[in-house]
Parts: sequence; structure tokens; C-alpha cells
Amino acid sequence: MRTATAPVAPETIDALGTIVAQADRGGGKISIAGGNTLSGMGLPLEAPALALSTLRLTGVVANESADLTIAVRAGMTLQGVNVLLAGQGQFIPFDAPAPQYATVGGTLAAGWLGPRRHRYGRLRDYLIGSAIVLADGSVARAGGMVVKNVAGYDMSRLYVGSFGTLGILVQANFKTIPAPGHARIFLAPLPERTRERAFAALAALPVAPSAAFWVDGFHNSIDGDDGNEGRVAVLLDGSEALLERATRDLRSALGRAGVPETRVFDTGARESFQRIVDAYVANLGERSVTYRIASFPTESAERALNIQQLARRYDLRTETIVDALNGDVVLRASGLDSRTLGGKIESFDDAIHELEPGAQVIACEHPHRVHLNAWGEAPAAVERMRALKARFDPNRTLNPGRFVGGI
Ligand SMILES: Cc1cc2nc3c(=O)[nH]c(=O)nc-3n(C[C@H](O)[C@H](O)[C@H](O)COP(=O)(O)OP(=O)(O)OC[C@H]3O[C@@H](n4cnc5c(N)ncnc54)[C@H](O)[C@@H]3O)c2cc1C
Repeated sequence: MRTATAPVAPETIDALGTIVAQADRGGGKISIAGGNTLSGMGLPLEAPALALSTLRLTGVVANESADLTIAVRAGMTLQGVNVLLAGQGQFIPFDAPAPQYATVGGTLAAGWLGPRRHRYGRLRDYLIGSAIVLADGSVARAGGMVVKNVAGYDMSRLYVGSFGTLGILVQANFKTIPAPGHARIFLAPLPERTRERAFAALAALPVAPSAAFWVDGFHNSIDGDDGNEGRVAVLLDGSEALLERATRDLRSALGRAGVPETRVFDTGARESFQRIVDAYVANLGERSVTYRIASFPTESAERALNIQQLARRYDLRTETIVDALNGDVVLRASGLDSRTLGGKIESFDDAIHELEPGAQVIACEHPHRVHLNAWGEAPAAVERMRALKARFDPNRTLNPGRFVGGI
């Protein structure tokens, strides 16, 4: 974290509220961190800040397993929640990298849409209630523990994706769903001539896969060898009978698209999926920069190729993951070392934004990262976002400057 002090880690909501209230009254600034897995995103804070960690704000507040709801403190890790839920045959589709570190609060604050959204929907749709410490230290509560109690605007959702600039999430209540019994993963080489047809075939399958990727590079993320043109990796989950049907459909659809051979395995399928997701923010220290570009599934392969070519013009090595069902493109560009990357990183950043104005930096440890266009082109709603910041955090106490447009 780019902060001046060692983190303080309060153990209770009250203690956290007191710290925030004091900072707010005294003009102090607070930088919020959970598992820090997204510390490579965003702009430097506009002033030295007190680092506030949520990692000791843990524990289950309520677990109504028969009602398929759970309430947890925001510093709990995703792995902690998943292991607990797995023990009762349930799950929440958290897709974040490094779930052993990533926290519930950081995940909601980042508000990403993960690869399994095509099948399971957005994480925010599982959020049924929350507690937030506001910039003046007071606690706001929204929603509750029942799935249908929302009257009017659901305030919990306002904080999802606000990167800690509107309040600090201290508790989240979720609905859960029964965990799919079995998982299976498909791997196959994906020659360039087959890509377009394979993507279209994946989108049209009668039983939607949980996730599907074209992975090019990131060698250790699936089975060590991804060939020159990358691999397609598809995750299926559900009952045994559903998997059998989905497997037949997928195999023949990929075969018709010209994908040469398919390898299928059940053991370790979920771990392989997680390794692909982990790779999104894997970084090579100071010699790489990783971008995320939102796209339509039908355009994503071509856009990935265009930015790969651009990186090659800068003599940068590329690794790419394309989410075939949702369209997200992740590109990691690396130089031989920090110095060679440093000589071109800023002009490459300009060039990538000319091609893809919305490209966001998601991981970079190079010292020049502060000069990059970290959020890409500001969204049309940026003025409304500024107005919300002014209303919720008038003294700019929480994560000031980190978010898009310097919010
Ligand atoms: C490939 C990929 C897939 C992803 N898929 C999904 C997905 O499916 N669904 C999804 O929701 N997210 C997804 N994410 C994003 C995910 O939110 C983060 O990767 C991670 O879970 C953040 O957790 P963290 O504790 O490490 O946060 P940190 O890195 O510590 O913080 C992230 C941001 O949140 C702020 N923050 C941290 N804790 C709090 C808090 N308690 N209150 C307010 N602000 C806080 C921080 O200041 C920072 O701005 C994905 C990310 C990647 C790279």
C-alpha cells in the first residue's frame, strides 16, 4: 500500500468507527485494505494516509443455513466463507483471485464481475444486507437477512464497486445457493482458425458452462503447456447426469468448430479453474503490467489479438486470458527486467489506451505505475460519482484520489 504508516487493524466495528471519526474530524486520510490482492489497481492516494486493515474484523454473525443466508464480518477471507459453506453443501460464487487472502469487504468494494457470472449472476445479487462505517464514523445498515425485504433503493449496492471511497464495509449478509455436486474441466488446443467458431459454439451450448477461457501463456495456470496458440479451458459443474449431457454437447460443439482434441478431467477441476483466475493478478514483480479490457464475447478474441500485436511492436512478451462467455480480456505484458519495461511502459500505456480507451491496469509493481492511466477513460457517470463522494465523504477521508477520475 502506498501509505505512510503501519496498518491499524481494529477488531470491532465500534473501534473502527472511532478511528474513522477521529480522522474525519482532524482532516486525516485513511487508506483501506483487506487482503491487498488488488493493491496494483488505482491511483496513488492524494495525501499520506493512515493504513486501516480489516483483517481482524472477522467472524460469522449469523448462519441461517436452512434459509440459505449467512452474515459475516467484512475482513473474513473468501476461502474462510467458502470452506464454511462447503461444509453445509452451499456456496456463493466468489470468483476472486487468491481467495485465501481476498476479503469479503475488498471483493465487494472492487465489485468486479467474475467469470462465472454467465451461469450464476453477479456477486452483488447475492448481497441482501450490509453494515457500512461512513466517513463520520457512524454505522449505516441496509437490507437484512431475508432475501426479499428491499423497499426502495437497495443502499448496499451503492458501495459495491466504490473501491472504499464512500464507506467501509464491515458486514455483509448473503443469500447462498446449493453447491453443485460435481465439476469437470475441458482442455484443448485452440488454433487461431478455430477461435471464432469455438467462441460462438460455447455461447450457444444448451447447458451453459460455468466458465470458459482462451488462455494464452500463464503456463502454470492450467496444465503446464499451452502451446503456441493457447488453449481453451471450460469449467462445467452440476449433477452427474447434467455433466454427462453437457460433456457430450460440448465435445461435439468444439469438434464441429474444428478444435482438434479435448482432454477432460474431474479431479482438481475446481483448482484448475481457480489457478486461471489467480493468474489474472499474478505478476512478475517490476517487469510486467497487466490490463483488463471489457468487451463483448463476439469481439474479445480479435481485440485480444490486436493488443498482443501492439505489445509485440514494443518488444514486450504477452500473456492473455479471454473470458469467452463474458468477453473480458486480460493482457499481461512483460519486459526482460524492470529497466527494459521502464523504458517503454508509459508510451505503451498511451498506445494501449488509443486502441482500448477503457483499459484498466489491474496489476503492476513497476515504479512508473504512478504515471499510467490506471482506470482508462472515465465513465459517463463520473460527475454523478463525484457528487456521491462529496455527499458521503465531504472531507475526502476515505481512500482519497484512488478511484476513477481521482475520486
Ligand atoms: C480475475 C479477477 C476476477 C474477479 N472476479 C470477481 C468476481 O467475480 N466478483 C467480485 O466481486 N470480484 C471479483 N474480482 C475482484 C475482487 O474483488 C478482488 O480480486 C479481491 O477479492 C479484493 O479483495 P481484497 O481483500 O484483496 O481487497 P483489497 O485489494 O485489499 O482492496 C480492494 C479495494 O477495496 C477497498 N477495500 C478493501 N476492503 C474494504 C472494505 N471492507 N470496505 C470498503 N473498501 C474496502 C480497498 O481500499 C481497495 O480499493 C475479481 C478480480 C480479478 C482480478
